[in-house]
Amino acid sequence: MALKRLAMITQEADGWQVPDWRRLQADLITDVAALCEALDLRPEQIPGGVDADSDFPLRVPRRYLSRIEPGNPDDPLLRQVLASAREREPVPGYGPDPLEEAAHTPVPGLLHKYHGRALLVVTGACAVHCRYCFRRHFPYQTHLSGGRWKQALDWLRAHPDIREVILSGGDPLTLSNERLAGLLEELAAIPHLDRLRFHTRTPVVIPERLDDGLLALLDTPRWRVTLVLHANHPREIDPALSERCRALARAGVTLLNQAVLLAGVNDRVETLAGLSDALHDAGVLPYYLHQLDAVAGAAHFAVPDPRAFALHRALRARLPGFLVPRLAREEPGESGKTVLKG
Ligand code: SF4
Repeated sequence: MALKRLAMITQEADGWQVPDWRRLQADLITDVAALCEALDLRPEQIPGGVDADSDFPLRVPRRYLSRIEPGNPDDPLLRQVLASAREREPVPGYGPDPLEEAAHTPVPGLLHKYHGRALLVVTGACAVHCRYCFRRHFPYQTHLSGGRWKQALDWLRAHPDIREVILSGGDPLTLSNERLAGLLEELAAIPHLDRLRFHTRTPVVIPERLDDGLLALLDTPRWRVTLVLHANHPREIDPALSERCRALARAGVTLLNQAVLLAGVNDRVETLAGLSDALHDAGVLPYYLHQLDAVAGAAHFAVPDPRAFALHRALRARLPGFLVPRLAREEPGESGKTVLKG
C-alpha cells in the first residue's frame, strides 16, 4: 500500500517530491573527479590510485551516493564503484571471459550452460558499473545487434527441455516496464517455460525501480517468478529497498540474494552477518556468496580460499543455517555452480 502511495505522489507532484526511477537512473556520475568531489575526497587519497580513463567507464547513480560515507577513501561501497588504477595491472589467470561464456552461446543473446535453464542477455546496460563485474569485457554488441531477442526466442521455442528463463545482461531492470512487458508476452507464449528469474543489481542502487508497474507485471499466475538481488554489503539494504522487496514478496515473488566476496568490501564476518540480517529483514534469503570470477581488472578484489573458508565457518557459527549463503564458485565446463566446503 505504501508503495502505491509513493507512485501516486510521484505522478501528482510531477516527480519533484519523489522522482521516478527513470530520472534517478539518468542522474549519474560518470567522472572520477566528480565522484571524488561529491564525496569530499581527493583522488590522491584513494589507495592504489584512481583510473580516470578506464575502458569500463565509471557509472554511479547519485541515488547510491547517499549511502557512501563522505571523506572515507576506504568506504566499502565506494570501492565497488570507483575505477582503481589497480584494474590495469595484468595478473596471471585473469582474463576477459573467465567463465568461457563464448563457448555456451548457441545463438546471439542467449547463454545455455546448465540443464533446463537458459539465460537471456536482454540488454548491455546497467544502472551502475561494478568494478568486479565478470562481464566487464562482454561483447554486448555481438549479442544485441540486429534482430534483437528474435534468435534467442526462436531457440527457446525449439528447446522444450528448457523450463526456466533467466533475464540477465547487463541488468534487465534497466529496461522500461513496457519493454519488459513485450518480452514477457513473447516468453509467456512458449508453453514449456514456467519459471522466470531476474538477476539484478538495479534495485540495490535505485530501490524505486521496484515500482508498482513492475509489481503488476510480475504478479501473475503464468509464472513462478524469482528475483535474485545482487547486494554485497548491509549498507546497501536501505529502508526504501526493504519496503519494496516486501511488496514484491507479497505479490508472490521469491526473493534471493547473490553476493560476491570482495576484499575490502565484505570480507569480515560482521559485515557478512549484517548483510544476511538486513536481507532477512527485507524478506530476501541469502542464497550464494560467490568467490570472485577471475576477470581481468578485478584481481585486487580476490579473497584467497583459506580466508573465504574461515569466514564462512565463522558465519555458520553465528547465524541460523537459512541465513548462511552457500559459498560457491562458478567454474567453466561444470554442470552447475561448485559449492565450496571450507
Ligand atoms: S550490475 Fe551486474 S552486470 Fe552490471 S556492472 Fe554490475 S555486476 Fe556487472
